[in-house]
Amino acid sequence: MSPNSALNRRSFLARSAAIAAVPAVASLAGGALAEPASADTLPDYAPIPPSALGPAVNAQGYFVGRVEKNLYWVTDSAYQAAFLTTRDGVVLFDAPPSIGHNLQRAIDQIAAENGVSNQVTHLVYSHHHADHIGGSSLFGTDVVRIGQVQAKQLLASENDPARPVPDVTFETKHTLNVGGERVNLAWHGTNHTPDNSYIHFPDHDTLMLVDIFLPRWVPFDSFNLNEDVPGSIAAPDTAMAYPWKHFIGGHMGRLGTRADMVLYQQYVNDIIDGVTKALATVDPTPYFAKYGNNVWAASQQYLAAVVAYASGPVIKKYLGVLAAADVYTASTTFAILESVRLDLGVGSQVHA
Ligand SMILES: [Zn+2]
Repeated sequence: MSPNSALNRRSFLARSAAIAAVPAVASLAGGALAEPASADTLPDYAPIPPSALGPAVNAQGYFVGRVEKNLYWVTDSAYQAAFLTTRDGVVLFDAPPSIGHNLQRAIDQIAAENGVSNQVTHLVYSHHHADHIGGSSLFGTDVVRIGQVQAKQLLASENDPARPVPDVTFETKHTLNVGGERVNLAWHGTNHTPDNSYIHFPDHDTLMLVDIFLPRWVPFDSFNLNEDVPGSIAAPDTAMAYPWKHFIGGHMGRLGTRADMVLYQQYVNDIIDGVTKALATVDPTPYFAKYGNNVWAASQQYLAAVVAYASGPVIKKYLGVLAAADVYTASTTFAILESVRLDLGVGSQVHA
Protein backbone atom coordinates (compact mmCIF):
# COMPACT_ATOMS: atom_id res chain seq x y z
CA MET A 1 0.00 0.00 0.00
CA SER A 2 1.19 3.50 -0.73
CA PRO A 3 1.35 6.30 1.83
CA ASN A 4 -1.70 7.62 0.04
CA SER A 5 -3.77 4.71 1.27
CA ALA A 6 -4.37 6.36 4.64
CA LEU A 7 -5.70 9.36 2.80
CA ASN A 8 -7.79 7.11 0.58
CA ARG A 9 -9.09 5.30 3.64
CA ARG A 10 -10.09 8.61 5.18
CA SER A 11 -11.87 9.78 2.07
CA PHE A 12 -13.56 6.39 1.82
CA LEU A 13 -14.78 6.71 5.40
CA ALA A 14 -15.96 10.21 4.71
CA ARG A 15 -17.88 8.87 1.72
CA SER A 16 -19.40 6.03 3.73
CA ALA A 17 -20.54 8.44 6.41
CA ALA A 18 -22.10 10.65 3.77
CA ILE A 19 -23.88 7.68 2.21
CA ALA A 20 -25.27 6.64 5.60
CA ALA A 21 -26.73 10.12 6.02
CA VAL A 22 -28.29 10.29 2.57
CA PRO A 23 -31.81 8.98 3.27
CA ALA A 24 -32.47 11.60 5.95
CA VAL A 25 -31.06 14.41 3.84
CA ALA A 26 -32.98 13.26 0.78
CA SER A 27 -36.28 13.24 2.59
CA LEU A 28 -35.66 16.64 4.15
CA ALA A 29 -34.46 18.26 0.96
CA GLY A 30 -37.24 16.73 -1.10
CA GLY A 31 -35.03 15.06 -3.68
CA ALA A 32 -32.34 17.72 -4.09
CA LEU A 33 -29.95 14.76 -4.43
CA ALA A 34 -30.25 14.82 -8.20
CA GLU A 35 -27.56 17.51 -8.07
CA PRO A 36 -24.06 16.17 -7.38
CA ALA A 37 -22.66 17.43 -4.06
CA SER A 38 -20.16 20.24 -4.13
CA ALA A 39 -17.92 21.53 -1.33
CA ASP A 40 -19.26 25.03 -1.99
CA THR A 41 -22.84 24.13 -1.21
CA LEU A 42 -22.38 21.50 1.53
CA PRO A 43 -22.97 22.89 5.04
CA ASP A 44 -20.11 23.75 7.38
CA TYR A 45 -19.87 22.34 10.90
CA ALA A 46 -17.90 23.29 13.99
CA PRO A 47 -14.31 21.98 14.09
CA ILE A 48 -13.73 18.70 15.92
CA PRO A 49 -12.24 19.38 19.37
CA PRO A 50 -8.67 18.00 19.59
CA SER A 51 -9.77 16.07 22.72
CA ALA A 52 -11.99 13.88 20.50
CA LEU A 53 -9.18 12.77 18.23
CA GLY A 54 -6.90 9.83 18.85
CA PRO A 55 -3.45 8.89 17.63
CA ALA A 56 -2.63 9.20 13.92
CA VAL A 57 -3.00 6.05 11.83
CA ASN A 58 0.02 4.62 9.99
CA ALA A 59 0.57 4.45 6.23
CA GLN A 60 -1.60 1.33 6.07
CA GLY A 61 -4.48 3.12 7.74
CA TYR A 62 -4.46 1.75 11.29
CA PHE A 63 -3.13 2.47 14.75
CA VAL A 64 -2.46 -0.29 17.28
CA GLY A 65 -1.67 0.51 20.89
CA ARG A 66 -1.54 -1.03 24.33
CA VAL A 67 -4.59 -0.61 26.53
CA GLU A 68 -2.99 -2.32 29.51
CA LYS A 69 -0.43 -5.14 29.78
CA ASN A 70 -1.18 -7.67 27.00
CA LEU A 71 -4.51 -6.10 25.97
CA TYR A 72 -4.30 -4.00 22.78
CA TRP A 73 -6.69 -1.95 20.67
CA VAL A 74 -6.74 -1.25 16.94
CA THR A 75 -8.47 1.66 15.22
CA ASP A 76 -8.80 3.18 11.76
CA SER A 77 -10.13 6.36 13.45
CA ALA A 78 -13.75 5.37 12.80
CA TYR A 79 -13.94 1.78 14.13
CA GLN A 80 -12.21 -0.10 16.95
CA ALA A 81 -11.35 -3.70 17.78
CA ALA A 82 -9.27 -5.16 20.61
CA PHE A 83 -7.08 -8.22 21.15
CA LEU A 84 -5.44 -10.06 23.97
CA THR A 85 -2.18 -11.90 23.41
CA THR A 86 -1.86 -15.09 25.48
CA ARG A 87 0.63 -17.95 25.73
CA ASP A 88 -1.78 -20.07 23.64
CA GLY A 89 -2.66 -17.56 20.92
CA VAL A 90 -4.64 -14.39 20.39
CA VAL A 91 -8.21 -13.58 21.42
CA LEU A 92 -9.75 -10.99 19.10
CA PHE A 93 -12.73 -8.83 20.08
CA ASP A 94 -14.77 -7.78 17.03
CA ALA A 95 -13.57 -7.65 13.44
CA PRO A 96 -14.80 -4.47 11.77
CA PRO A 97 -14.57 -4.85 7.98
CA SER A 98 -13.30 -1.26 7.69
CA ILE A 99 -10.14 -2.38 9.54
CA GLY A 100 -10.24 -5.73 7.71
CA HIS A 101 -6.82 -7.21 6.93
CA ASN A 102 -5.19 -4.54 9.10
CA LEU A 103 -6.42 -6.52 12.12
CA GLN A 104 -3.97 -9.36 11.42
CA ARG A 105 -1.26 -6.82 10.48
CA ALA A 106 -1.70 -5.10 13.85
CA ILE A 107 -1.61 -8.48 15.65
CA ASP A 108 1.50 -9.54 13.68
CA GLN A 109 3.22 -6.29 14.63
CA ILE A 110 2.55 -6.66 18.38
CA ALA A 111 3.27 -10.42 18.40
CA ALA A 112 6.63 -9.84 16.69
CA GLU A 113 7.56 -7.07 19.13
CA ASN A 114 6.77 -9.27 22.13
CA GLY A 115 7.81 -12.68 20.80
CA VAL A 116 4.35 -14.21 21.28
CA SER A 117 1.99 -16.16 19.02
CA ASN A 118 0.14 -14.19 16.31
CA GLN A 119 -2.41 -16.98 15.78
CA VAL A 120 -5.98 -15.84 16.41
CA THR A 121 -7.64 -18.73 18.22
CA HIS A 122 -10.80 -17.02 19.55
CA LEU A 123 -13.04 -14.26 18.20
CA VAL A 124 -15.57 -12.62 20.51
CA TYR A 125 -18.56 -10.81 18.99
CA SER A 126 -19.79 -7.69 20.81
CA HIS A 127 -23.05 -7.84 18.81
CA HIS A 128 -24.27 -9.09 15.44
CA HIS A 129 -23.95 -5.86 13.39
CA ALA A 130 -21.98 -6.22 10.15
CA ASP A 131 -20.03 -3.00 10.63
CA HIS A 132 -18.38 -4.51 13.75
CA ILE A 133 -17.95 -8.19 12.85
CA GLY A 134 -18.16 -8.26 9.04
CA GLY A 135 -14.43 -9.11 8.95
CA SER A 136 -15.03 -12.33 10.91
CA SER A 137 -14.70 -14.75 7.98
CA LEU A 138 -11.16 -13.44 7.29
CA PHE A 139 -10.09 -15.56 10.27
CA GLY A 140 -11.18 -18.84 8.73
CA THR A 141 -12.85 -21.86 10.22
CA ASP A 142 -10.32 -22.85 12.89
CA VAL A 143 -11.25 -19.98 15.19
CA VAL A 144 -13.62 -20.40 18.13
CA ARG A 145 -16.28 -17.71 17.83
CA ILE A 146 -18.12 -16.63 20.95
CA GLY A 147 -21.29 -14.54 21.21
CA GLN A 148 -24.50 -14.01 23.09
CA VAL A 149 -27.24 -16.52 22.26
CA GLN A 150 -29.32 -13.90 20.43
CA ALA A 151 -26.30 -13.01 18.29
CA LYS A 152 -26.36 -16.62 17.11
CA GLN A 153 -30.10 -16.47 16.34
CA LEU A 154 -29.81 -13.14 14.52
CA LEU A 155 -26.74 -14.22 12.53
CA ALA A 156 -28.40 -17.51 11.60
CA SER A 157 -31.35 -15.63 10.12
CA GLU A 158 -29.18 -12.98 8.47
CA ASN A 159 -27.15 -15.76 6.82
CA ASP A 160 -24.16 -13.57 5.87
CA PRO A 161 -21.07 -15.64 4.94
CA ALA A 162 -18.88 -12.79 6.23
CA ARG A 163 -20.29 -13.33 9.74
CA PRO A 164 -20.25 -17.04 10.76
CA VAL A 165 -22.51 -17.87 13.71
CA PRO A 166 -20.76 -18.23 17.07
CA ASP A 167 -19.63 -21.73 18.11
CA VAL A 168 -19.94 -20.92 21.80
CA THR A 169 -22.91 -18.96 23.14
CA PHE A 170 -24.03 -17.70 26.52
CA GLU A 171 -27.29 -16.30 27.83
CA THR A 172 -26.25 -14.02 30.68
CA LYS A 173 -22.66 -14.83 31.65
CA HIS A 174 -19.59 -16.52 30.30
CA THR A 175 -16.02 -16.52 31.54
CA LEU A 176 -13.52 -17.04 28.78
CA ASN A 177 -10.24 -18.60 29.92
CA VAL A 178 -7.51 -18.73 27.29
CA GLY A 179 -3.79 -19.16 27.86
CA GLY A 180 -3.96 -18.08 31.49
CA GLU A 181 -6.05 -14.98 30.71
CA ARG A 182 -9.61 -14.36 31.78
CA VAL A 183 -12.38 -12.28 30.22
CA ASN A 184 -15.92 -11.94 31.55
CA LEU A 185 -18.73 -11.68 29.01
CA ALA A 186 -22.16 -10.60 30.20
CA TRP A 187 -25.58 -9.78 28.86
CA HIS A 188 -27.60 -7.31 30.94
CA GLY A 189 -30.66 -6.93 28.72
CA THR A 190 -31.32 -5.37 25.35
CA ASN A 191 -29.90 -1.93 24.50
CA HIS A 192 -28.31 -0.96 21.15
CA THR A 193 -29.30 -4.41 19.88
CA PRO A 194 -30.94 -7.37 21.61
CA ASP A 195 -27.57 -9.19 21.84
CA ASN A 196 -25.15 -6.41 22.76
CA SER A 197 -22.70 -7.72 25.38
CA TYR A 198 -20.46 -6.29 28.09
CA ILE A 199 -16.87 -7.49 27.73
CA HIS A 200 -14.95 -6.99 30.97
CA PHE A 201 -11.22 -7.53 31.39
CA PRO A 202 -10.87 -7.77 35.18
CA ASP A 203 -7.08 -8.11 35.03
CA HIS A 204 -6.70 -5.19 32.60
CA ASP A 205 -8.99 -2.58 34.18
CA THR A 206 -10.96 -2.37 30.94
CA LEU A 207 -14.55 -2.56 29.75
CA MET A 208 -15.57 -2.98 26.12
CA LEU A 209 -19.18 -2.10 25.25
CA VAL A 210 -19.85 -1.22 21.65
CA ASP A 211 -22.21 1.37 20.10
CA ILE A 212 -23.43 2.81 23.40
CA PHE A 213 -20.97 5.52 24.35
CA LEU A 214 -18.40 6.81 21.85
CA PRO A 215 -15.80 8.67 23.92
CA ARG A 216 -15.85 12.45 23.32
CA TRP A 217 -18.25 12.17 20.35
CA VAL A 218 -22.01 12.53 20.30
CA PRO A 219 -23.82 9.35 19.22
CA PHE A 220 -24.16 8.50 15.52
CA ASP A 221 -27.40 9.47 13.74
CA SER A 222 -30.65 9.05 15.68
CA PHE A 223 -29.01 7.99 18.97
CA ASN A 224 -26.74 5.35 17.41
CA LEU A 225 -29.82 3.76 15.77
CA ASN A 226 -30.39 2.08 19.11
CA GLU A 227 -33.15 -0.51 18.93
CA ASP A 228 -34.08 -0.10 22.60
CA VAL A 229 -33.82 3.55 23.62
CA PRO A 230 -34.58 3.16 27.37
CA GLY A 231 -32.19 0.17 27.51
CA SER A 232 -29.49 2.23 25.80
CA ILE A 233 -30.00 5.19 28.13
CA ALA A 234 -29.63 2.84 31.11
CA ALA A 235 -26.59 0.96 29.77
CA PRO A 236 -23.92 3.46 30.96
CA ASP A 237 -25.11 3.00 34.56
CA THR A 238 -24.56 -0.74 34.18
CA ALA A 239 -21.17 -0.04 32.62
CA MET A 240 -20.20 2.26 35.47
CA ALA A 241 -21.02 -0.48 38.00
CA TYR A 242 -18.02 -2.43 36.68
CA PRO A 243 -14.51 -1.56 37.87
CA TRP A 244 -12.50 -0.18 34.94
CA LYS A 245 -10.17 2.63 33.96
CA HIS A 246 -10.10 2.14 30.17
CA PHE A 247 -13.15 1.97 27.93
CA ILE A 248 -13.36 0.56 24.40
CA GLY A 249 -16.51 1.88 22.71
CA GLY A 250 -16.05 0.40 19.23
CA HIS A 251 -15.92 3.76 17.47
CA MET A 252 -13.71 6.68 16.62
CA GLY A 253 -10.05 7.09 17.35
CA ARG A 254 -9.62 7.08 21.09
CA LEU A 255 -10.33 5.13 24.24
CA GLY A 256 -12.58 6.47 26.99
CA THR A 257 -12.27 7.22 30.68
CA ARG A 258 -14.85 7.17 33.44
CA ALA A 259 -14.97 10.99 33.31
CA ASP A 260 -15.77 10.76 29.58
CA MET A 261 -18.68 8.44 30.35
CA VAL A 262 -20.03 10.79 33.04
CA LEU A 263 -19.87 13.63 30.51
CA TYR A 264 -21.81 11.53 27.98
CA GLN A 265 -24.45 10.65 30.59
CA GLN A 266 -24.84 14.37 31.34
CA TYR A 267 -25.36 15.03 27.62
CA VAL A 268 -28.12 12.41 27.40
CA ASN A 269 -29.74 13.69 30.60
CA ASP A 270 -29.68 17.24 29.21
CA ILE A 271 -31.50 15.99 26.08
CA ILE A 272 -34.11 14.20 28.23
CA ASP A 273 -34.62 17.36 30.31
CA GLY A 274 -34.90 19.46 27.16
CA VAL A 275 -37.44 17.10 25.61
CA THR A 276 -39.55 16.98 28.77
CA LYS A 277 -39.55 20.77 28.99
CA ALA A 278 -40.32 21.15 25.26
CA LEU A 279 -43.30 18.77 25.44
CA ALA A 280 -44.73 20.91 28.23
CA THR A 281 -43.99 24.20 26.44
CA VAL A 282 -44.40 23.97 22.66
CA ASP A 283 -48.08 24.41 21.78
CA PRO A 284 -49.22 21.94 19.08
CA THR A 285 -52.39 23.94 18.27
CA PRO A 286 -51.02 26.17 15.46
CA TYR A 287 -49.62 23.15 13.62
CA PHE A 288 -52.92 21.29 13.62
CA ALA A 289 -54.82 24.49 12.76
CA LYS A 290 -52.60 25.05 9.74
CA TYR A 291 -52.53 21.51 8.31
CA GLY A 292 -56.12 20.38 9.00
CA ASN A 293 -56.62 16.76 7.94
CA ASN A 294 -52.94 16.34 6.99
CA VAL A 295 -52.10 14.90 10.39
CA TRP A 296 -48.61 13.87 9.28
CA ALA A 297 -47.70 17.41 8.23
CA ALA A 298 -48.94 18.76 11.56
CA SER A 299 -47.04 16.06 13.48
CA GLN A 300 -43.87 16.56 11.49
CA GLN A 301 -43.83 20.32 11.99
CA TYR A 302 -44.86 20.16 15.65
CA LEU A 303 -42.24 17.51 16.53
CA ALA A 304 -39.59 19.44 14.58
CA ALA A 305 -40.40 22.45 16.75
CA VAL A 306 -40.12 20.29 19.89
CA VAL A 307 -36.75 18.95 18.70
CA ALA A 308 -35.48 22.48 17.96
CA TYR A 309 -36.62 23.72 21.38
CA ALA A 310 -35.04 20.77 23.19
CA SER A 311 -31.80 20.41 21.23
CA GLY A 312 -30.85 24.06 20.74
CA PRO A 313 -29.46 24.66 24.25
CA VAL A 314 -27.81 21.21 24.30
CA ILE A 315 -25.95 21.87 21.04
CA LYS A 316 -24.78 25.22 22.41
CA LYS A 317 -23.61 23.67 25.69
CA TYR A 318 -21.66 20.80 24.10
CA LEU A 319 -20.09 22.50 21.07
CA GLY A 320 -16.35 22.21 21.53
CA VAL A 321 -16.88 19.59 24.26
CA LEU A 322 -18.36 16.62 22.37
CA ALA A 323 -17.39 16.26 18.71
CA ALA A 324 -20.15 16.76 16.13
CA ALA A 325 -22.69 18.09 18.63
CA ASP A 326 -24.00 20.27 15.80
CA VAL A 327 -24.23 17.31 13.39
CA TYR A 328 -26.27 14.69 15.23
CA THR A 329 -27.78 16.18 18.42
CA ALA A 330 -31.06 16.99 16.66
CA SER A 331 -31.59 13.47 15.27
CA THR A 332 -30.67 11.94 18.63
CA THR A 333 -33.08 14.33 20.32
CA PHE A 334 -35.85 13.12 17.97
CA ALA A 335 -35.11 9.47 18.88
CA ILE A 336 -35.13 10.27 22.59
CA LEU A 337 -38.25 12.45 22.23
CA GLU A 338 -40.14 9.57 20.64
CA SER A 339 -39.04 7.22 23.42
CA VAL A 340 -40.01 9.73 26.12
CA ARG A 341 -43.43 10.04 24.47
CA LEU A 342 -44.03 6.41 23.59
CA ASP A 343 -42.11 4.39 26.18
CA LEU A 344 -42.56 6.71 29.15
CA GLY A 345 -45.89 8.29 28.16
CA VAL A 346 -44.76 11.86 28.78
CA GLY A 347 -47.07 14.38 27.05
CA SER A 348 -49.82 11.82 26.44
CA GLN A 349 -53.26 13.35 26.65
CA VAL A 350 -56.39 11.31 27.23
CA HIS A 351 -59.39 12.54 25.26
CA ALA A 352 -62.03 14.05 27.53
ZN1 LIG B 1 -24.17 -1.73 16.10
